[in-house]
Amino acid sequence: MNGIETAIARYLQGSGHSFIHLKAVLFDMDGVLFDSMPYHADAWVTSMAKYGLPMTEEDAFMNEGRTGMSTINLIYNRVHGCDASKELIDEIYLDKCNEFAKHPDPSRMPGAWELLEKLKATGIQPVLVTGSGQHTLFARFDRDYPGMFERDKMVTAYDVKFGKPNPEPYLMGLKKAGVAANEAIVIENAPIGVEAGVAAGIFTVAVNTGPLPNQVLLDAGANLLYPSMQALCDGWEQLAERL
Ligand code: CA
Repeated sequence: MNGIETAIARYLQGSGHSFIHLKAVLFDMDGVLFDSMPYHADAWVTSMAKYGLPMTEEDAFMNEGRTGMSTINLIYNRVHGCDASKELIDEIYLDKCNEFAKHPDPSRMPGAWELLEKLKATGIQPVLVTGSGQHTLFARFDRDYPGMFERDKMVTAYDVKFGKPNPEPYLMGLKKAGVAANEAIVIENAPIGVEAGVAAGIFTVAVNTGPLPNQVLLDAGANLLYPSMQALCDGWEQLAERL
């Protein structure tokens, strides 16, 4: 068996399903569809420092995918040993969004558009599942991914209560797509996002588009790992024929 077959066999064994019949691909956004993570990491570090909350870029990448509140409280707890007030959280998160907006618009991740074209051509439904709630989100999709994602099937920060690593966003993605866990795969770049996909019982493909070691994504439970979205796109036919 090659790597793909072994990964699928392991997934089936662990999940109790007897097959995967691919109908939908659940896409994370930042670091998967957009090359936006360096900007987010920079915005987090800059913003938190203003509030006396030391946060490193590694912290940002390790906790990518959490809600804003969860990220702020994680660092706040490190410094103060308790959660921040709702008012402070709102203030810091607004500042972080303003810092992010100082960067240029993030570009499409190389390979992402081409992969989406392959899915569309074979009748597989792409679904967006993100913890992001940026007000410019829908406009960005209209501009950079026109016609690729159905808006009423997108899962964003406005839909979810818990956020990743809770399986909730991906379970909601399955529901919106109208498919079962063994009729979809998840594409994720962050350890917490991988955990969420795995916890939802979905075959989860990690694409390592950031600075973290591969092992971090594998330890989070990724079923399969590609070094980039381009590599996943190039290897798509080989993977898809087994799904
Ligand atoms: Ca991500």
